[in-house]
Amino acid sequence: MNHATSPRPTSPESAGLTHYKMYIGGEWVDAADGGVIETTNPYTGKAWATVPRGRAADAERAVAAARKAFETGPWPAMSATNRGHLLRKLADLILENAEHLARVEVIDNGKLINEMLGQVRYIPQWYYYFAGLADKLQGEVIPIDKPDMFNFTRREPLGVCVAITAWNSPLLLAAYKLAPGLAAGNTFILKPSEFTSASAIEFGKLVEKAGFPAGVVNVVTGFGPEIGEPLVAHPSVAKIAFTGSEAGGQRVYETAARGLKRVTLELGGKSPNIVFDDAELDNAVKGVISGIFAATGQTCVAGSRLLVQRSIYDRFVGRVVDFAKAARMGNPLETTTQVGPITTPPQYKKVLDYIEIAKAEGAQCLLGGGPATRPECGSGGQFVEPTIFGQVNNKMRIAREEVFGPVLACIPFEDEEDAIAIANDSPYALAAGVWTQSVRRALLMSQRLQAGTVWVNTYRAVSYMSPFGGHKRSGVGHENGMDAILEYTQVKSVWMST
Ligand code: NAD
Repeated sequence: MNHATSPRPTSPESAGLTHYKMYIGGEWVDAADGGVIETTNPYTGKAWATVPRGRAADAERAVAAARKAFETGPWPAMSATNRGHLLRKLADLILENAEHLARVEVIDNGKLINEMLGQVRYIPQWYYYFAGLADKLQGEVIPIDKPDMFNFTRREPLGVCVAITAWNSPLLLAAYKLAPGLAAGNTFILKPSEFTSASAIEFGKLVEKAGFPAGVVNVVTGFGPEIGEPLVAHPSVAKIAFTGSEAGGQRVYETAARGLKRVTLELGGKSPNIVFDDAELDNAVKGVISGIFAATGQTCVAGSRLLVQRSIYDRFVGRVVDFAKAARMGNPLETTTQVGPITTPPQYKKVLDYIEIAKAEGAQCLLGGGPATRPECGSGGQFVEPTIFGQVNNKMRIAREEVFGPVLACIPFEDEEDAIAIANDSPYALAAGVWTQSVRRALLMSQRLQAGTVWVNTYRAVSYMSPFGGHKRSGVGHENGMDAILEYTQVKSVWMST
């Protein structure tokens, strides 16, 4: 067995850095042309590892391996029950290695250690849940209207699937895709973001250890246009499950359409968090804070538009500002840190640019409003002060475009109809929060809000059991929940003359 990581003393540019390899067809390999990408710790600003810079030749190799594993060898012959056992083994290994995986993610991604430990320990549930569904996928016997015919259906896997993920939650987003897809009998190529590839490669090591046949799960690394696009375009690929930006999703959708491929797209959001004057305000403050500042605002469901009923607007927004003011920033490996760095240099610039755009648009800066220069943030990190803008108008760019950072836009509203109109006046429809003690209002809002997920008196809950997906420009299709496994199957109708 080759090793997935090795020091590369012969490579001056990567001296002292951990070098990761790709996992293709059960082997640990470098890019065909030897190219690498340096990956940076967002807290120190320093490179800590390199990953292969895969390109079309590597995509070709990965697709060939995944196709071979789908068509021949132990995987297509394996019973669904045994596929489930393998997935359970993988889940056990993720749990056993949770601390290591969480640490790698913090160093690579800048997410807080406590948050990552919680997330990584929850991820195995995806594999356990879909392992349980693997042998419950079944067809139907149709009571066909022809007396001399027998008709039944089979649910079959699609073939080679490509999972492409964003940089913000690499292992969780991979689980959304691989757990149902593998349970259904497909094979996979996982392509994490070029900014945060390390944890996906660590995951590949666990796939190997669990004993999956070679080629069933392949992990490749590289830039989207260089290796992602050839994967999406490849004629042997049946489905692409993509999580990322609206622009990236659009591009993937267009390329996949040329091959008439199945696609799931989980894209961006500008989610409203709506606080009524009858809300339990202590809870609402905490929900609003975690809604926007968890993961430093770098979550697709971030409650980035705070809609507050005008009668409590000043009081409530004041409380949110006071709470955010006390947030501890710093090293994401410290368990006391509450707000960490921005993960990538382009994202850091984008967040700061949006802060300037908001100021220029006339939004009132109530807190933060620039880079964080606190001593605990160190000297090399990409920190942005938790930022709150007041008296935002829903027509402003800060209310319409996804910032993907710790920036909250506060908008007053009059009544239910006004809140619904403002909330729904958005190109996105991923998630929404509602804070009220009225059951009537909670039901009305959950019916009228355009969003794939509505949370009432809570925010950000997610589970392997509950469907997750966006409407409008937030995406196409759903992940999680029982139906997610069907997204990785196709129906065959079989007719027999009796
Ligand atoms: P991105 O679109 O830049 O990249 C996402 C992935 O797509 C990366 O792996 C990238 O290499 C790849 N990619 C880029 N261009 C490609 C192409 N032409 N062909 C194939 N692959 C390509 O997004 P990002 O900056 O990594 O992630 C942030 C975005 O992800 C935000 O908009 C956020 O809202 C969204 N997101 C959505 C969800 C969700 O479930 N809805 C979850 C997390 C993040």
